[in-house]
Order: sequence, then C-alpha cells, then structure tokens
Amino acid sequence: MKQFVYADNAATTKISPAVLDAMMPWLTDGYGNASSIYQKGREARLAMEKARHQVEKALGVPLSRPDYPVEVYFTSGGSEADNWAIKGAAHLMAKQGKKHIITTVFEHHAVLHTCAALEKEGFEVTYLPVSDRGLITAEQVQAALREDTALVSVMYANNEIGTVQPIPQIGAVCKKHGVLFHTDAVQAVGNVPIHVVEQNIDLLSLSGHKIHAQKGIGALYCRKGIRLPNLIDGGAQERGHRAGTENIAAIVGLGVAIEAACTDIPGRAARLCALRDRLIAEISQIDRVHLNGDPVHRLPGNVNFSFEGVEGEALLLSLDALGICASSGSACTSGSLDPSHVLLGIGLPHEVAHGSLRLTFSDDNTMEDVDYILEVLPGVISRLRAMSPLWERITKA
Ligand SMILES: *Cc1c(COP(=O)(O)O)cnc(C)c1O
Repeated sequence: MKQFVYADNAATTKISPAVLDAMMPWLTDGYGNASSIYQKGREARLAMEKARHQVEKALGVPLSRPDYPVEVYFTSGGSEADNWAIKGAAHLMAKQGKKHIITTVFEHHAVLHTCAALEKEGFEVTYLPVSDRGLITAEQVQAALREDTALVSVMYANNEIGTVQPIPQIGAVCKKHGVLFHTDAVQAVGNVPIHVVEQNIDLLSLSGHKIHAQKGIGALYCRKGIRLPNLIDGGAQERGHRAGTENIAAIVGLGVAIEAACTDIPGRAARLCALRDRLIAEISQIDRVHLNGDPVHRLPGNVNFSFEGVEGEALLLSLDALGICASSGSACTSGSLDPSHVLLGIGLPHEVAHGSLRLTFSDDNTMEDVDYILEVLPGVISRLRAMSPLWERITKA
C-alpha cells in the first residue's frame, strides 16, 4: 500500500497546528502596524515583544532589561540572519583593521557565499577543513586565529549530515582571544541545548521554517554591546536596526514554535533518536553503504547514507513515486552537476557523494514511517543497482 512519508524536515517543516492557531488572529483582525500608537498597533507590538521573549528564553538570553531591551532581532529568515551577522561583524571590525574571517568548508551557502562576497571586498577568509566524520575542533579554530581575525563563524549543526560541532569549546577559544563568534544554529534549535551566554556565542542565526513555523521568518541574536551595522536600512523598526514593517503573524508563530521546540529537548531527542537509530542500523545492513557524519555527535533526526553504485537523483525519484519525500547531496538538490560541498568536504569521492540520501525527521514522524521506508528502500536500491553500469564495475572489481 502506498503511503506518504515526509522525511525532509531539514529542508523545511510543516507549520504546526499550535503555530497556525497562534498566527491566525494576526492574519485577520490583528492587522495593526506595530509602530502605530493606537490600540491595534499596541496590541501587535505586545504580541511581537512576547515572541521576542520566547526566542530569548529559548536561547538562554537573560530577559530583556529596560536599559537594553533588544538582543534578538527578527529577520526574513536564516539566510538574512547569516548575512547580517557576518557582513555586519566584518564591516564593524574592519574599522579596527581586522579583516580576517575563519569559517569551515561545510557551512550553509548563506554563510559561504556571504564570505565569498566579503573576499571580493578585500576580506581574507580561512575555510577550516572538517574531519571525515564532519567535525571540527576548537584547536583548529585556535590555530587559525591571527592578530587581524575579526570573526569566527561555525555552524552549530550541519544541515546535510547532522554533525553537531563543539560550540561551547569554540566559544571559549573566541572569548579568550577577543574574537567575535557567530554560529548558524538553524538546524540546532530545539535539538541541542543552546545557551548563548554560557557558550560564549556573540551572534546566532535561526530560522522559523525548520521548526514548524512559516517560511520567511527568522532571527538574529546579537550580544549586547556589539554595534552591528544594519543590513536593511529604512524605517525605525527593531530599534532602528532592521527596517521593514514587522510580519507580526510570522513573528508570533516563530515565538510559539521555538517555545515548543525548546520545551523538553531531551524527551524529543530521545524519541527522534529511536527513529534515527533504527533506520541507521537497518540501512547499514545493505551491501556497500556508508553512513555520512558522526554516529554520536549527530542531530537526533538526521540520517545520511551513501549507496555505492546508485545515482542520488534516480533514488529520490523512485522514493517519490513511493510517496517518500527525501533529499540527496547530488545534482538535483543543488541545481548543478557538482555533488554537495558538504559530502566532498568530508572526503567522499564524487561518485559516492552522488549516491547519497538524506532522511530527516521531526515531531510529525512516527515509527510507522521508518517501517515503511525500510519496507521499500532495499528493493529500490537493488533495482537501481541492477540497472547501473557503475554498480557492475564496482562489483566486478
Ligand atoms: C535552512 C538553513 C538556512 C537558511 O534559512 P532560511 O530561513 O531558509 O533562509 C541557513 N542555515 C542552515 C544551516 C539551514 O539549514
């Protein structure tokens, strides 16, 4: 029987009923502009500030104080937050002659392409290599630091292979050397305990649609006292730091989503790990497969395998025909013929990287989903291999 399994939650998630319920009033009667002084405007502003507190609480930000009420700014998503953090920090520190940035080879493109844009402006960027399991160390960061290092940007958790980086240790190194530290925590929020103060994080990006809020909303945490230049100029919204009439419904939804995601992180993680680990154990039984990423330092809902002698795009199409939404590190996801920079970054040969499959779970998934995937996946792999000249070559060798 054909089922439908959505196993691409690292790409985006479904809006949860609680988020939609919370948003609805602000899409209908609550249309006031949060900058207006009449009641309809004030209500919108109050709803927005409540959501800001929810985000702050989820990140371990000490609650807003009257002398500095804002450390969390709402943005159009994770990409804008990454752009703002990195371009802002670079331009801020360039005034002190610091024009060197440290990041890793396997960041999200919102970070990598931002760094590339800064290189064109004359900034220097060190791209740290990652291990074959997709991890970097605080020692690597320490060794790459220079007198003129302005910023370190390391993602909290990788969106493709799910590896969770030693962020507290990297934060400690950055603090000790007085270098700004940014982390793209889009995939980490709700999956690992985040505490910006204890973990010495200066700048942090997050996104709503990866945690069951809507697309087009995110936030940037910016530690008090860092005078980050604006990315979006215009009106005086967000205390003059991020212009544009606020999307109250999306903001309210983000607040509810992040609160839900960060309530009982261990409990949610345990449930997702059960799905993940069963899938990993069973898929590992298939001939010539490789688990990508680290088995331990891994997001609870992430499974990523390479299948030798299989073409990722064909695999995704076959799974789609069986009602399974997944993704791959191959051509069709990136819109180019190059395999994913993440899979190449952990040292996979091109042809192995091309045969990759990422399955990512959220609270919406169940063990029945895993059963169904396991029911059909081995057959799909055998069928594709039977037609593959590459597989023939591999097995004859
Ligand atoms: C999805 C994602 C982004 C981009 O977030 P948007 O809200 O889609 O702009 C950035 N970084 C990581 C790690 C992501 O997974």
